[in-house]
This record gives sequence, structure tokens and C-alpha cells, in this order.
Amino acid sequence: MAELSNNYDNLSDGALDILFKSHDMLIGGQRVGASDYIDVLDPTNGKVVGSVPKGTKESVNQAVISARRALEHGSWATMRPYEREKILLKLADLIELEGDILAEVEAVESGRTLMNTRLFDVDFPVNCLRYMAGCATKIHGKTTTIGQGFAPSMEFFACTLLEPVGVVGGIIPWNVPLCQAIWKVAPALAAGCTVVLKPSEMTPFTALRLGELALEAGIPEGVFNIVTGIGSEVGAAMVEHPGIDKISFTGSTLVGHRIATAGSKTFKKMTLELGGKSPMIVMHDADLEASIPGVAMGIYGNHGQNCCAGSRLYVHEKVYDKVLEGLIEEANSIVLGSSLDPTTQMGPLASIAQQSRVLRYIESGKEEGAEIVAGGERLDHPGAYVTPTVLAETNRDMKVVQEEIFGPVLSVLRFKEGDDVVSLANDSEYGLGASIWTQNLSKAHQFVRQVKAGTVWVNTHNILDPAIPFGGVKSSGYGHEMAEEAMLSHLITKSAVINIT
Ligand code: NAD
Repeated sequence: MAELSNNYDNLSDGALDILFKSHDMLIGGQRVGASDYIDVLDPTNGKVVGSVPKGTKESVNQAVISARRALEHGSWATMRPYEREKILLKLADLIELEGDILAEVEAVESGRTLMNTRLFDVDFPVNCLRYMAGCATKIHGKTTTIGQGFAPSMEFFACTLLEPVGVVGGIIPWNVPLCQAIWKVAPALAAGCTVVLKPSEMTPFTALRLGELALEAGIPEGVFNIVTGIGSEVGAAMVEHPGIDKISFTGSTLVGHRIATAGSKTFKKMTLELGGKSPMIVMHDADLEASIPGVAMGIYGNHGQNCCAGSRLYVHEKVYDKVLEGLIEEANSIVLGSSLDPTTQMGPLASIAQQSRVLRYIESGKEEGAEIVAGGERLDHPGAYVTPTVLAETNRDMKVVQEEIFGPVLSVLRFKEGDDVVSLANDSEYGLGASIWTQNLSKAHQFVRQVKAGTVWVNTHNILDPAIPFGGVKSSGYGHEMAEEAMLSHLITKSAVINIT
């Protein structure tokens, strides 16, 4: 086992400049404090590693006023798409230059390893940002011929224009904090919108740094505002605020439902990226040498704190024993440790609350008859560690098979020859991701078509790309992150009809 508690001695000066201090919010380009502050904890040891303002309804109001002013007046309102593209590309360069620092800060606040935070909070979202920057110059409506119906003697020129949806409120979770922030901000800014962002109270530092870098890149004051605070206060105030035109939310289905209900009062546009319980299906003809580590990665990647984590595994009876044995080996071989220790393969969960939630689920599985064949424990240490867990002998009626755990817990189910794997995969209220592991190409294609999920993978799981839209169906929400779809959801279509008779 690696070191369990983070040692800050080797942190870079840049990371130390961000950590261990009180931060401000960013409103109208100004640093704004508050009367109360929220401590941010390192989940490897529970130590306070800094604090952020506990924003209020009034902070949200000020941020919305700034965002609306920047949307309607000033340089952003008249800025050409190529200029927005240039600024966003500059922002991507600045994030990349600071990549190691941001990865360290993220490792401390979220407990994920440096390799993970560098890849998924810096390199990947920087690519997403560059992709979106390019989209800024590809916004176009349509022209069409009209007038045949009710005014045949008249001639018209008709077209559609795509315009920014307005002020966008981004509300994000803690699992990949900087990536989530960039996913929200990039398409909104590329489309010409202005933004009020609320990071998770558990992991707010990199979003705040992103705001500073945005100013440095040339994004005008007021275009990108950040309000920190508690979800039920700051997040709820954003959803209720009549000055916000669209809410782009990522988080739990429970909160997503609240937001959809509250936001409907002011007819807000919405993108809701919610929870998941994604199935992985291992067929009898799968290449097990590749599938077993692939499936293990599908669940244990990012400590299972992935919305699309493959947390329900269905294995054909012919290969069940072999797959289970392989997965137990994979789970037991993962080196747990502190996020800054380079030998660590899996850090703690994001918080003690998250650890308790995951352990409660494991306990419920046990009570309902599941067999813990790997992990299932917390470590005797103040950090929020949970050992990578495999639950065998699970069935569809168990909570661990139906509910999102959001931790390193895999529920394994056996299926028989002739069982309909599409029905098994669809046996969930969620519809975010799904994967099938097989060498049968037609089976794979049929699965892709029939499964109700936003993304379907074949012989892989959790592969995302800036050019591939990512979103869910059913209780996993609606709308997309990334690709053209994300930017289009920040634009509204206006129709124009011009009499040229
Ligand atoms: P959460 O729903 O508790 O919180 C998410 C954000 O919403 C936080 O910033 C929080 O402060 C805020 N919030 C809380 N209550 C609010 C309210 N009443 N009004 C407005 N905002 C409020 O989720 P979490 O625990 O931070 O994150 C884990 C969840 O996120 C999991 O369910 C996971 O599946 C989901 N998630 C989904 C995706 C996706 O793309 N579908 C990606 C990552 C995480």
C-alpha cells in the first residue's frame, strides 16, 4: 500500500499559491468575498486545505446582473466569432501551461491521483475547449424558399439565425471538477453566451483559477462569473433567477429533478446530465484477456465516481467463473493510497460522506444476499478510503443493482444462453452508458441499436471524445456535453421573413 495521507512537501509553488488560503468569488471581473466561508477538505486525511466564500442569493443576483450586462452591452456583445475562437484558444493554452499545477490542486481537493487529474481535468478538457473554440466560427442558420402557400404572388427571402441563448447558469459536481467546469463554460462562450458558474462546494479551487485565467486570456469582465456556496442556496437561487435563460446542470438525479421543476417556473432551457447505473455485458465469445481488465477499468476508473461507470455487470454463465476470478484479482491488485503518492493507483473517495454512502450500499447488498468477493471495507485511517469491491450473486431486485452507488463497487449478475441481453441492459431507470464485450459483430450492432442509453460502447467502456456528444436518456437526463450538440444547445433559432416582392 502507498502512503495514505497526502504529504504537501513536494507541491509546486503554483499549487501552494492556490491551496491553503481563503479565496474570493469572481463577479463582474472583481474578486468578491462573503461574510461566511466554507472549508475545503483533503479527502486523504480530512485536513482543511483552503476555503471559499459561502455565496448568497444576493451574490447570485449580482453575478446575473453582470452577466446580463456583458451579454447585452460591451465588447462581448459585438465580438466576432473568430475573436471568441481566438480568446478560447488562448485560454486553452493558459490552462495547458498551468497543467501540472492544476492537476496537483485537483488531486488535493478531490483525492484523485495526479495521473488521473492531469489527464481528465487538464489534457482532455483542454482538447474539449479547443474543439468548442473552433465551433464558434461554424454557427450558421439556413435559407429557404417560401411563399407558395398563402401569398403566391409575393416573393420572400427567408432564413434562420442562430443567436446565443443568453445568460447560462452552470452547476457542477465534484467528480472531475475542472473538466465539468470547462464542459459547461466552453460551449456557452463559443456560442456567445455569458455564464454564471457554481462549482461544487467540495472542489471549488480549479474553477476559480479557471476564472482568473479566462480574464488573462481576454474574456471581458462579467462574461464569466463564479459564485461559490451551498447547492440548496446558491444553486437554487440560480435556478429561480429570472435573469438566467438556461441551466446546464450535472449532478444527481434527485437534484436534477428539483432543478427541472423549479426552473420550469421561468421556462428555462435545460441541459441535465444526471446519474447512471450503466450495464456492461460480457458475452461467452468475448476476448476475456482484454475484457476482464477493460471491465475493471469500466467500474474502477476514477474510483467508480463516474456517472457512466459500468456498475452492473452481466456475464454469460459459460464464462462467469473465469470473469469473476479475473475481476477479483484485478480489484485486489489495485494499490490504494494518497493522491499525491506516485505509486497510488486509487485514492480515497471524494469525502467522508461519500465513503459512508458507499459503505451503506455495500452493507445493504450483504443484507440482501450478495456475496462480497473482493474489498467491501473502509481502511482504518481518517481518509475516505473504500477498497475496490466486487459483489457476486446479486440480482435485479437488490438496491446495489438498481441504485447509483457512485463508488468502486461492481455488482455481478449471471445470465443464461438465450437470455435477452438488451432487456437486461435496459432493466434500469437510468440510461447513460452501456457496453457489450463480444467478438460477434452483428450482436454488437444490434445491441448498439436497441439499448436505451446515451452512449453505447463495444469492447470498451467510458471512452469519451470532444467530437462525440455525451448525454443520457430516461432518469439520466437530457441534452449533451461536447461536440456540436453542446454548442447548438446554447443557441436559439430565430426565423426571418423578408418581403422582396
Ligand atoms: P449533487 O446533485 O449533490 O450536486 C451537484 C451540484 O448541484 C453541486 O454543485 C451542488 O452544490 C448543487 N446543488 C445541490 N442541491 C442543489 C439545488 N437544490 N439546486 C441547485 N443546485 C444544487 O451531485 P454530486 O454529489 O455533486 O455529484 C454526484 C452526482 O453527479 C452523481 O449522481 C453522478 O452520477 C452525477 N454526475 C453526472 C454526470 C453526467 O454527465 N451525467 C457526470 C458527473 C456526475
